[in-house]
Amino acid sequence: MAAAYPFCPACDFEIELDELDVDRGERIGCPECGVTLTVLRISPIELDIADEEVHEWRDS
Ligand SMILES: [Zn+2]
Repeated sequence: MAAAYPFCPACDFEIELDELDVDRGERIGCPECGVTLTVLRISPIELDIADEEVHEWRDS
């Protein structure tokens, strides 16, 4: 099976990540654009842009 690397959702850079090297919920940095990404799931790896700013659900 060919290894399919995940793409950065911000810049579409193919990030050479092995699913054995990351854990779900782990944060990695995109080597291309430097955005912080969260590993949403493994196998296949799915990435999402992590919010650097604190995002809290608050009832006002
Ligand atoms: Zn990127």
